Amino acid sequence: MKPRLIPLLALLLLGLVSGSATALAAADEKLKAAAEQEKAPLIQTLHDMVMIESGSSDVEGLKKMADFTEGRLKTLGATTERRKTTAGAGADMVIATFEGTGTRKLMLIAHMDTVYLRGILAAEPYHVDGTRIYGPGIADDKGGIAVVLHALKILKDAGWRDYAKLTVSFNPDEEVGSIGSGEIISALADQHDVVLSCEPTAAPPAAEHETRGSGRAARRPRRWKSQGAHRMPAPRRIVGATR
Ligand SMILES: [Zn+2]
Repeated sequence: MKPRLIPLLALLLLGLVSGSATALAAADEKLKAAAEQEKAPLIQTLHDMVMIESGSSDVEGLKKMADFTEGRLKTLGATTERRKTTAGAGADMVIATFEGTGTRKLMLIAHMDTVYLRGILAAEPYHVDGTRIYGPGIADDKGGIAVVLHALKILKDAGWRDYAKLTVSFNPDEEVGSIGSGEIISALADQHDVVLSCEPTAAPPAAEHETRGSGRAARRPRRWKSQGAHRMPAPRRIVGATR
């Protein structure tokens, strides 16, 4: 987890609606300072989520993750709902909506499930080693959720509402192919101008416009497919926001 991830997502959100290099440069310094302030709270959030074991079949653990993330999104001012997945273990999705004053409709997606079975923390506990933090699911995808929550906190504190609608979707079954949430996410995505997939990865960008958050191709709606974002060649519509 690198601190620069937060301003990158925050800048992407700003850039998607402003399109102004000057505005971005001015915002950059403020956002960098805010991101530094947010570093310790983000790591605490990451710790709290890693301590919730939430494998794809662990409905109880996934409910705790949904309760945790929904509570945080409500605190940020979102209207939230829980949507039952249509297949698989039967855990809930968390869908949050922010109403803004701008024109574009933006969506952030990340997932709450991990590939680990209940009890993994006993064998692989959360721990810090120098500048690295280890724990089951910490990068896939609890780091993505933490970045979303804290980037939105930074932007809320900055008074940024330059969007028509900002939707956040956290699904509980990405590691099993989003079997019960993929169609719901796809339908939601079709209602937005841009979807950012918030999945930390070291992989190089798969699409020409990835990570830039600008250009018509990056904004053009495309059909979203429900494979794992870290395994799929991302359509241009889905921008790797946390690289
Ligand atoms: Zn993932």
